[in-house]
Amino acid sequence: MTIDNRTVKLNSGYSLPLVGYGTFGGPDAPEQVYAGSKLALEAGYRHFDTAYLYRTEEALGKAIRESSVPREEIFVTTKLWQTFHEPQHVRPACERSLELLGLDYIDLYMLHWPMAWKFVSYEFDDLKKPDENGDISRIDVPIIETWRAMEELVKAGLVRSIGISNFTMPMLEELLKQCEIEPAVHQLEIHPSLPQEEMLKFCNKYNIVLTAYSPLANPGYSGMPSMLSDPIVLRVAEKYGKTPVQVLLNWGVARGYAVIPKSVTPERIKANFEHFNMDKEDIEAILDIGRTNQYRSCSPLRDFGPSNNIFDEPVDLYKK
Ligand code: NDP
Repeated sequence: MTIDNRTVKLNSGYSLPLVGYGTFGGPDAPEQVYAGSKLALEAGYRHFDTAYLYRTEEALGKAIRESSVPREEIFVTTKLWQTFHEPQHVRPACERSLELLGLDYIDLYMLHWPMAWKFVSYEFDDLKKPDENGDISRIDVPIIETWRAMEELVKAGLVRSIGISNFTMPMLEELLKQCEIEPAVHQLEIHPSLPQEEMLKFCNKYNIVLTAYSPLANPGYSGMPSMLSDPIVLRVAEKYGKTPVQVLLNWGVARGYAVIPKSVTPERIKANFEHFNMDKEDIEAILDIGRTNQYRSCSPLRDFGPSNNIFDEPVDLYKK
């Protein structure tokens, strides 16, 4: 894996900037993402992360099209939702994302989650339809069938690289055995409380780059220990004269993967892009935080119901 000038070369031949801008949010997300992406482009970000589910593709695309930064210099990731896993829905879903973005191609198209749900419609309100027990049951579409349709998108020139998100190691191993085009990127939750050491080793071995979502461990999220006040993070921040957030982001970059912090706050957008080098001993010290107690903020069990408990989480939802 070659890392140069804060970008990493993917197995597809394209380069991924290591610091990206996350665009998931609440009902105000489209307006906030439009303004935030404009600021991010000015601050130097060239990697943007969205998804059909987020409803922010249109806002992000508008900010990109209005910017003076050449399209070729910008890397856009978006994601296929679970209701579109049946092969016949993959290309129409991708074309819909392209239309919302107003772009000719997507740099990286990912499977958002490794499970298939029944197709209802493309309406945003139809993307998560739980039954009366709050469960969204899965349908039997093997990942490889969806993946073959993703491979066709590359061959058709709609998409430059394809990737996965939220896979377990056995799921990824299975995909690697059967695929023609290997995933270029695996996006998953990574922060000091969930350092993903095994997955990082595995993906490095297969030349798959990781992208860390929730790299700040979602500050303020109840049930998660705050990484912004963790004593080890604070000590490292003091040593370098940086903020805890800058430590968390540069810790990820130093470990060789991309980070996609989300912020709608102008001064944070700028500060989150600042780079500094960290000593090996500090990277190791931060790794120790998650070696005893691990927490994840993104729970498919909690958000989608028991049929989707792919991480085999215990009932205590926040603790892995
Ligand atoms: P983050 O870890 O990026 O945390 C976002 C929160 O941190 C926001 O509340 C933001 O507040 C706050 N924040 C940002 N910068 C600072 C700062 N400098 N100081 C203090 N607080 C700060 O969590 P996300 O879950 O949003 O993850 C990032 C991105 O990852 C998403 O936007 C999305 O693109 C992607 N993602 C992908 C998933 C997947 O399944 N593949 C799942 C979840 C996320 P504010 O905005 O108010 O500044």
